[in-house]
Amino acid sequence: MKVLVLTSGGVDSTTCLAMMVAEHGKDNVVALSVSYGQKHAKELEASMKIAKYYGVEHIYLNLSEIFKYSDCSLLEHSDDEIPHESYAEQIDKSDGKPVSTYVPFRNGLFLASAASIAISKGCEIIYYGAHSDDAAGNAYPDCSESFNRAMNEAICEGSGGQVRIEAPFVSWTKKDVVKKGLELNVPYELTWSCYEGKDKPCGVCGTCIDRQQAFNLNGVTDPLVLK
Ligand SMILES: [Zn+2]
Repeated sequence: MKVLVLTSGGVDSTTCLAMMVAEHGKDNVVALSVSYGQKHAKELEASMKIAKYYGVEHIYLNLSEIFKYSDCSLLEHSDDEIPHESYAEQIDKSDGKPVSTYVPFRNGLFLASAASIAISKGCEIIYYGAHSDDAAGNAYPDCSESFNRAMNEAICEGSGGQVRIEAPFVSWTKKDVVKKGLELNVPYELTWSCYEGKDKPCGVCGTCIDRQQAFNLNGVTDPLVLK
């Protein structure tokens, strides 16, 4: 069976890719990276290196045009500063709405695009790395279990049963994801999570805080911090 994995170059999607290569073999895995007009190309560069490392086919799709009306702080054209605090702190102030680094309906678009490509490439399942920490407090509602279920139903229906989606980490924490990845020897030194595009991770944005904590909880130091 062939599968498609949505890859962002980060910890979660890279762990997901590693699991799929172990399960299906590299020739049956297609990696799809989508650009949404982010402020830097580090994630894409990481995705390319990781696809090469695992020897899987890599497809790149640019959806940045769709997001040009958004003032989300992650986007290249936005003057908004990327918040230097944890997701928990941001959620406290967000009044139940998504955090400022929420890109409008990003996963919805990514999954719909992935469904189309999956049908064309003969892939039966789309995997993506959404996990429970990201959905907590409605920070990223398009990472939640209920979103995943609804999107799966839409994609199954709309593809005539040819494609379904699976989010193996949807009920996991990021700590669990890293634990799994360490078992699979995922080359985390090739990954990139930070919202800022500097040489080293900034260490203070939401995703940096999240990532370092997930490594620390597993008793290891993030290899990007050691570099
Ligand atoms: Zn950062």
